[in-house]
Amino acid sequence: MTRIHKGSSPPLRLTALSFARTWPTLDEVSLAYMELEQDSYFSLFSSADITTYIDRSLHYGKQAAQKIALPTSSGLDELLNVVLRSGAAVRFDDGTSSQSHWVRAQYKPKEKQIVIYRSSLEQLRQFFARAHFNVSPDDLIALHLYHEWFHHLEVTRLGRTDRSLPKIIVHKWGPFKQRAYVERTREIAAHAFTQHALGISWYPSLLDHLLHYEEKGWSNGRIREHFQQIRTQIEAHYALIVPKIEEEPS
Ligand SMILES: [Zn+2]
Repeated sequence: MTRIHKGSSPPLRLTALSFARTWPTLDEVSLAYMELEQDSYFSLFSSADITTYIDRSLHYGKQAAQKIALPTSSGLDELLNVVLRSGAAVRFDDGTSSQSHWVRAQYKPKEKQIVIYRSSLEQLRQFFARAHFNVSPDDLIALHLYHEWFHHLEVTRLGRTDRSLPKIIVHKWGPFKQRAYVERTREIAAHAFTQHALGISWYPSLLDHLLHYEEKGWSNGRIREHFQQIRTQIEAHYALIVPKIEEEPS
């Protein structure tokens, strides 16, 4: 276990950050479930569908991190080189005042361009600073970059996650069935890819949820309680096997 340096330099690498010591955490299955819940067809999913989409899209992202030649060192320069060599352009955007800070980054498939919003980098810097962690700015960029690079790899090399999974029946007229792809699976896979490529112990969408509850003024205790409720709910309703979180002693 790497010791955490609080306060000033040197910046803390994300791989050295022990999340569970500072924040409430939630396992990847629960977080993937929360992602899937935002799919427009979620109400049509059976328990079996939910398990399938979660398991298979998590697997798709993890497998991609093994299949793709990742940078051999953990420096941002090398990651940028690998991304550029794969045919993607990278642009940093200062955003406008109307730009929501919830938009972290995006991939524009037509232009094959990854856009990273500086407002998102700053939001995360502040999040970690509030807990007295001076996190490596390069790692925060890498966190965004890996996610969007996965979307680039999906359309250029791997195939889109949703297209590799069974479609969902959205309408039935007698013998005719209309089916659709489940697009949120792409996000589940992108987070899994990011986690494994970056070598961090936590599923990245955890940050979004923590920020969301912090903004509502919730204490860590309340968030922890809420996360426990979510786990219980998922276990009760959907027969998903939710791994228990091993809380590290503080
Ligand atoms: Zn995405």
